[in-house]
Amino acid sequence: MIIDFHVHCFPDALAKRAIHELAERANLYPHSNGTINGTVKHIKDSGVDKFVLLNIATKPKQQRTINDWAISLINDDTVIPFGSIHPFCDDKIEELKRLHNAGIRGIKIHPDYQNFFVDDPCMDCVYEECGKLGMIISFHAGVDLGLSQIVHATPTMIAKAVKKHPGTTFIAAHMGGYWHWDEVLEQLCGINNLYLDTAYCGVTMPVKKAEEIIAAHGADRILMASDMPWEIPSESIKMIKSLNISESDKINIMGGNAEKLLNLI
Ligand SMILES: [Zn+2]
Repeated sequence: MIIDFHVHCFPDALAKRAIHELAERANLYPHSNGTINGTVKHIKDSGVDKFVLLNIATKPKQQRTINDWAISLINDDTVIPFGSIHPFCDDKIEELKRLHNAGIRGIKIHPDYQNFFVDDPCMDCVYEECGKLGMIISFHAGVDLGLSQIVHATPTMIAKAVKKHPGTTFIAAHMGGYWHWDEVLEQLCGINNLYLDTAYCGVTMPVKKAEEIIAAHGADRILMASDMPWEIPSESIKMIKSLNISESDKINIMGGNAEKLLNLI
């Protein structure tokens, strides 16, 4: 099974505007129309079986509606929806429990869009509770091309947060920190409760650097991810297949590790 662990889409009524705004801001080309159906088609064309849908509440008032949408997708065959918690909400823990009770497997945190630093103690309660509930936390990591002035989740900050909550499973996107890969090697590689995803690294990351990070962190904690609509999953798969690693490591990165992490096997 091939699983893409990092995909974005939006409710049909919002997709067109959301994709247009994000593409303009980051100067990126969107490879889907941003809807669930449009995304599923591209995903299947790339040979991917399932994908993790990462939702982000960029304002506190969006938290509940975005999570309602995630919950509405819980029985989909292809989509594995994650929820979102906003650091400035007062009901973070109640909302986390609501997501968990509805069967949601994890949450996405994007500190650049949510305007806080990833190791800010205001999120300690959320990071800790996710461990207790068995929910996964996926962090945006490193430079965001749409909001690049201040990096709110550097590998050093992520290391601090992840080490403080050893009972919680975290994922740092973009191979631990987009354009911060030397810092990933120094700060993140080898941390047990941390996975790295390959989102948006299929085309723009130097392959040698990816091989170095995989060797240092362990291929059993790397997850194939595209960051669709910003990268086509077939490009992410092509990059993984081109790596100088064993065939079984490639199979695990493309889906085996994700299947285990999500208890699908
Ligand atoms: Zn993303």
